[in-house]
Amino acid sequence: MDTAVGGASMYQLSPEIKEFRDVARRIVRDELLPLEQEYLKHPEQAYGLQPMTNLRAVFPKQVADRLEKIARDTGLWYVMVPEQHGGMGLSMLAQVVIIEEFMYTAVPFPWVNVPNILYECTGAQAERFLKPVIEGQKIHCFAQTEPNAGSDPGGMMKTSATRDAEQWVINGTKMWISGAAEADLILVQAVTDAEKRQKGGITMFVVERGTPGLKVEQPGIPTWLSQKAAQYFVHFDDCRVGPENVLGEVGKGFNLGQKWLTIHDRLLRGPYSLGKMQRALDMSIEWAKNRVTFGRPIADRQAIQWKLVDMYVDIMSLRSLTYEMAARADSGEDVRSEAAMVKMVAAEWGTHCLDHAIQIHGAMGESSELPLTQFYRYLRHYQIGGGTNEIQRTLIARKLLRG
Ligand SMILES: Cc1cc2nc3c(=O)[nH]c(=O)nc-3n(C[C@H](O)[C@H](O)[C@H](O)COP(=O)(O)OP(=O)(O)OC[C@H]3O[C@@H](n4cnc5c(N)ncnc54)[C@H](O)[C@@H]3O)c2cc1C
Repeated sequence: MDTAVGGASMYQLSPEIKEFRDVARRIVRDELLPLEQEYLKHPEQAYGLQPMTNLRAVFPKQVADRLEKIARDTGLWYVMVPEQHGGMGLSMLAQVVIIEEFMYTAVPFPWVNVPNILYECTGAQAERFLKPVIEGQKIHCFAQTEPNAGSDPGGMMKTSATRDAEQWVINGTKMWISGAAEADLILVQAVTDAEKRQKGGITMFVVERGTPGLKVEQPGIPTWLSQKAAQYFVHFDDCRVGPENVLGEVGKGFNLGQKWLTIHDRLLRGPYSLGKMQRALDMSIEWAKNRVTFGRPIADRQAIQWKLVDMYVDIMSLRSLTYEMAARADSGEDVRSEAAMVKMVAAEWGTHCLDHAIQIHGAMGESSELPLTQFYRYLRHYQIGGGTNEIQRTLIARKLLRG
């Protein structure tokens, strides 16, 4: 990393990306925003891992079907899917721009969330695991964290897999696993060589729902993200799977997890936050112009104007950073530290921005009829989920000090 200049600026939005952005924007305005009031009345349903799960939980079948049809007809269902797997083959930059649009509303748009590591599937695995996920017939979850292994999964992971004559036998407990109860496929990391651990001794397995020895503990762990608990303990008790359930190479599962976290999870926190932040700013400007106190709109007050300015500056800065890093990832640059940076500031600036928006709205800011508190909780969660901000800082520092 050239810390002095941060490399040459690379990103430019092509006409094609702008066209997709406009299509997404129209869908949000015409299809999703009109449904938002209804969606927000059902917080207990939210937080399935796939947007489609949440839509089907809240809306009548014909509404969810209609949105799915729009997603498939426009191709946006496949926004994350490479061309060779029947998707749109969009660059990371295009994905980031499109996903930002959809994050403008609490109503999920049904694009399919495919973890990039599933593209490691080979031969029969692709038919069995990857294709059904791409088509929305199967849902996955990612199981790394354990009761005593959060920030340091490589060093502290206890879940193990040992090989007998024909199969792998997995034992251990994972915790905080989002969407485990609805998942058909659990992507689980287990220690296969206790000496090597994260340096060649952790393997990723795809474990199918119903496999003997696999148990998702119910009810899940309640959190403030959703009234319906959506994180779970997952127990493996002599859970046997075949070599065909190994994702990637034996011993390389920790790197695979990092590959997912770095690009798929960390970089995408940029657009996840940006859409919500932009909505919060638009709502706050509108509210501030119309809310009158002491004979004048609150927008006339410097105390309010400065909050709006802070929000705007954070949005512009995060957008530039996210688009830039997406473009660099597209050009093949190693952006692991930069993705950590995106995740960190998306979470911190996002939380700050929503805090301002709630304050500007006064009591209405706390009303669950508006999406602001829901947005706030998600953005605050980003400071912990997928690696805490302290860990992101540690990763960035490591790179800074290495040279
Ligand atoms: C809603 C939710 C959904 C989640 N979904 C999933 C999922 O789907 N799959 C999955 O595998 N996991 C999931 N997680 C787990 C999540 O990734 C972990 O909670 C996270 O990585 C932090 O681990 P921890 O909670 O064990 O914190 P700890 O590691 O115990 O850390 C506690 C505090 O100490 C700080 N800290 C730790 N080490 C250091 C250090 N070296 N220097 C400075 N500070 C440090 C941390 O930053 C944190 O502030 C989820 C968690 C939540 C809350």
